[in-house]
Amino acid sequence: MSKVRKKNIIRRNLILRALLDEERLSLTDLKNKTGISLPVVTSIVSSLEKEKFVTEVDVKDENRGAGRPPLIYQLNGQAGYVLGIDIGRSTTDYVVLDLAQNIIHQDRRESVNLNSKDISVIDDLFDEVQDVIKNAAVKYKSVLGIGISIPGIIQGPKGLSQTYFNFSDESLEELLKKKFNKSVNIEHDAKAMALGELWFGQAKGKQNVLCINIGWGLGLGMILNGKIFYGSDYYAGEFGHLQVVRDGNLCYCGKQGCLETYASGKAMARIAREKIEAGAQTIITNEVNDIEKIDAKVVFESANKGDTFSIEILEEAAGHLGFGLSQIINILNPEMIIFGGKIATVNDFIINNIRAAALKYSMTQINKNIKFVVSDLGTIAGAMGAAMLEFRELFEVEHLNPKAYV
Ligand SMILES: [Zn+2]
Repeated sequence: MSKVRKKNIIRRNLILRALLDEERLSLTDLKNKTGISLPVVTSIVSSLEKEKFVTEVDVKDENRGAGRPPLIYQLNGQAGYVLGIDIGRSTTDYVVLDLAQNIIHQDRRESVNLNSKDISVIDDLFDEVQDVIKNAAVKYKSVLGIGISIPGIIQGPKGLSQTYFNFSDESLEELLKKKFNKSVNIEHDAKAMALGELWFGQAKGKQNVLCINIGWGLGLGMILNGKIFYGSDYYAGEFGHLQVVRDGNLCYCGKQGCLETYASGKAMARIAREKIEAGAQTIITNEVNDIEKIDAKVVFESANKGDTFSIEILEEAAGHLGFGLSQIINILNPEMIIFGGKIATVNDFIINNIRAAALKYSMTQINKNIKFVVSDLGTIAGAMGAAMLEFRELFEVEHLNPKAYV
């Protein structure tokens, strides 16, 4: 991309961002907010108007006093839409947002077969997307881009997925771009959740926040100095593989004693099955006949109903999780820890137990100001963050390295 073109995109994004943040601005306001000269602001706004991304606000009816009022501009929310998808092992969340970042549609469906080695699973995802877009009453051609959050080992900025949908040498992102004929960005699930929290949730405006994604697995998205932290090969945050028990349970990664083998949804389900097989008493057996069908959701639901057996499983998992977290707290000194994920029933009970262990094992000076909260975006944090991967192209300049061009 030429230097001039990049500079123009940076200026355009700064103007779009100012309109997103402030809603209504005159050309002079835009000049003052962005530091871009008035003639350039005027020219960019005029081309954004032609693209229908920006419209003039009708101020005729508003009493603005004597004299000719300045023209006021705003984003045109209906100019385009972004689809955010969060693919989990069993369910997938979809959100459709308009250009002004309002949620206009959301849906939760059964996931396509993540374990499929057959590339036709991409066609299945394409069909699901067409159906979601149709239900959102949006035309496919007005979808500006699709952001997708995927579990497993992912190098988001490279568009590579190693655990799932890994069919050929071609990156998954390229494959999806061809199939969808749109801009597509993929991201690791916990990092997508962190991105959602940073833009729409409780991490907004915060600098150092840990986002813990409790689902089938266990993920960590780190916001450090106000940005998602990736590490040099984009693998940072493998919290689930932190060793919490020396020579403990064997993990699928090949190591022993990984946190994920004690505190993930998958681990809690396994522990429940083992204990029930050994004769433990629980209301779970009244509700689920087939022991193989016991999953983390049932354990959470039973705990919420007061089942001592399930509460004890959660307590134990929370203890391990809090211990693991204490190690990260000592290193990173976060201001907030947000808990979320597809186990929608993450409740105060488990958070209080995690908090107690995290505080017990981390340094008092470092932990005294940390806020422990449950995500208020709930199960759509990942899908919202995935949508942000696309909005970033329009509203953010960071990824364009502005210092080199402005
Ligand atoms: Zn492991």
